[in-house]
Amino acid sequence: MQEKNIPTKIYLEENEIPRYWYNVRADMKEKPAPLLNPGTHQPMTVEELSGVFCEELAKQELDDDTRLVEIPEEIRELYKMYRPSPLMRAYRLEKYLKTPAKIYYKFEGNNTSGSHKLNSALAQAYYAKKQGLKGVTTETGAGQWGTALAMACSFFNLDCKVFMVKVSYEQKPFRREVMRTYGASVTPSPSTETQVGRKLLEEFPGTTGSLGCAISEAVEVAVGTEGYKYVLGSVLNQVLLHQSVIGLEAKTALDKYGIVPDTIIGCAGGGSNLGGLIAPFMGEKLRGERDYEIIAVEPASCPSFTRGKFLYDFCDTGKVCPLAKMYTLGSGFIPSPNHAGGLRYHGMSGILSELYDKGYMNATSVFQTEVFKAAEMFARTEGILPAPESSHAICATIKEAEKCKETGEEKTILFGLTGTGYFDMTAYEAFHDGKMSDYAPTDEELEKSLAQTPKF
Ligand SMILES: *Cc1c(COP(=O)(O)O)cnc(C)c1O
Repeated sequence: MQEKNIPTKIYLEENEIPRYWYNVRADMKEKPAPLLNPGTHQPMTVEELSGVFCEELAKQELDDDTRLVEIPEEIRELYKMYRPSPLMRAYRLEKYLKTPAKIYYKFEGNNTSGSHKLNSALAQAYYAKKQGLKGVTTETGAGQWGTALAMACSFFNLDCKVFMVKVSYEQKPFRREVMRTYGASVTPSPSTETQVGRKLLEEFPGTTGSLGCAISEAVEVAVGTEGYKYVLGSVLNQVLLHQSVIGLEAKTALDKYGIVPDTIIGCAGGGSNLGGLIAPFMGEKLRGERDYEIIAVEPASCPSFTRGKFLYDFCDTGKVCPLAKMYTLGSGFIPSPNHAGGLRYHGMSGILSELYDKGYMNATSVFQTEVFKAAEMFARTEGILPAPESSHAICATIKEAEKCKETGEEKTILFGLTGTGYFDMTAYEAFHDGKMSDYAPTDEELEKSLAQTPKF
């Protein structure tokens, strides 16, 4: 039953869209380890990073100190198209589970790209345009980032070249057409258009590709094309900064009703939605003002936090990007063709890696079939058809709510519902037909790919 004073949807006003992004690094006593030049092993400078990234974004990447970064007015204007996003109370799911837990979710799927990725895509396209670039290159796994970026580039009149991981390109042909509708060009990766791609195809003919490889291809093209830079939709500090709008809005909405979450849950691919959702809460935790339980949820098939190692690694297969200290499975790790394409990256945000290592957050992994069971339960109770990635968070939330049922604890849970799953119906079909299998890499497989991490 609905509680008296708490609506099912907590909406904010347009003027409550944050004016500043929050940089959680400013409140971290131990900062994330610096990105290193792969040749010299020295920390990357803004100048070096600007060879690949837009200059303002390179500055944001290395800025560990500015707590609040003003959101340019043009970006706020575009945010108004789909923000503030609603914070929902999952009354029907709670009732179905017969749990005393109170479940809230921040829904980021309310835009054509279908995910939270547009929050950073708009920012990155804005800075690229401001720098006078002709276009940007990027990779996309499941296609959400490519779609978000294609859309953002069309608003700013920028060219957009997307390398799409081949397995997703084949599983989700309609994603490609959405990107083309927004004017982007889409190439399946590995491709024959780059040295990295050609080399990989020779070594592993028939490979279904990986994000690490698509990144190398996109960087190669950006560096080799006049007027182009490379942009990335997750993992980087700048992306977590932009995604802090999710957490800032969620906190404003909860504060209105005096709601304080006990547990905050998010799926983790490269860590951007989770990093954004938890940002202001983590800030309070880091400053010792309040405590929250924070849980990252990853697929058992690509378990960076729960089975990876915290060390410097390459961000891409071609080893052209800076080295990052993060929880990683090794840059050569190619996950099984798991359906949650957006959670297939071998590494994890450096910020979240540092926080996880220091015990500020926990992580858990879940199997694919239980994720889709949770997705279906959510669709049937809450009405929204969730993305498989988001459903990892739903799955972990349901488990927490079931624990509350056993203990009688009236916990308040907040989770991030990052997007919708309309392009993932092949995966839903496999689940409905009983053809979906659970997979986790063996210890030997992980040892093998981790053995390839750089030693110095
Ligand atoms: C990309 C994506 C994710 C995972 O990426 P993060 O950077 O970890 O947030 C999760 N959900 C959806 C819908 C996505 O598109």
